[in-house]
Amino acid sequence: MAEKRWIAETLFDDLGFRTSYAAERVLYETQTAHQHLVLFENAFFGKMLMLDGATQITGRDEYVYQEMMSHVPLFAHGRARDVLIIGGGDCGIAEEVLKHRSVKRLTQVEIDASVVDFAKEHFPEFTKPVFADKRFECVIDDGMKYVAETKRRFDVIIVDSTDPLGPGAVLFTPAFYAGCKRCLNKGGVLVTQNGVPFLQSAELKTSIAHFKALFADAVCYLAAVPTYVGGHMAMGFATDDRRLRRRSAKVIGERYRKAGRFATRYWTPDLHVGAFALPRFIAELVAGAGKRARR
Ligand code: SAM
Repeated sequence: MAEKRWIAETLFDDLGFRTSYAAERVLYETQTAHQHLVLFENAFFGKMLMLDGATQITGRDEYVYQEMMSHVPLFAHGRARDVLIIGGGDCGIAEEVLKHRSVKRLTQVEIDASVVDFAKEHFPEFTKPVFADKRFECVIDDGMKYVAETKRRFDVIIVDSTDPLGPGAVLFTPAFYAGCKRCLNKGGVLVTQNGVPFLQSAELKTSIAHFKALFADAVCYLAAVPTYVGGHMAMGFATDDRRLRRRSAKVIGERYRKAGRFATRYWTPDLHVGAFALPRFIAELVAGAGKRARR
């Protein structure tokens, strides 16, 4: 019997450790125009997608990240109609966003068409409902160029990017965040995939510093994603409306009830509020990052 292939996440090689997963089957592997893509089946985590040696999504824990990147900004905002996703090729976040009836238009800007094509074949649980929804449009473009040039304006921008390597690096720059600010309607909110602070503290600190130069309120909230190893996963949260992240669980619960209480497996109104309560080392990192813009 052929030796099982072990596929390693090489994202933290510079920190001197790797996480490896036994591949029961390799379903798809290719070098796209932008990145190395491998999809394989793991006995415990199910389907696993890695881009350039970094775990993106697994069948077993995808709901944690997808729900927290979607429902927190949408329920915090409370009346979002126009939503922009940068990246998000697997369409997992789009599927969550479209559960909100208040959303009238969802635009996804993904740089790598082959990730979307591949997701149509291997993640139909996301792509089928999403591409069948008239509110959804997918644009193949570099997110940096899109936010610098578009005439559209959005209530919520969700940056579901890869890590600050390869094509994703530009999505962690001050120019990109300034482009996002330019595209936001008054009182709009920007959320970003911002790594695991225990292992990627510089990434979070840099982003928060850029946010502070652009927005009145610049923080992060947290979730525990089992395959984003290293403890808490941080999601950047930036807006000029300081009230958004201070909504009570009662208010968020009322908005959830009005939204039809669609099924979730991780997000709840109480957890939404609790996710902004930061452990001291992350709170100090956020407080120490950059200077806040004068308002
Ligand atoms: N949840 C995952 C994570 O946290 O690592 C990210 C998932 S999603 C697959 C990331 C997507 O960002 C990929 O499909 C990648 O092609 C896309 N992406 C990377 N750089 C981009 C850019 N500059 N503009 C638009 N999309 C980009």
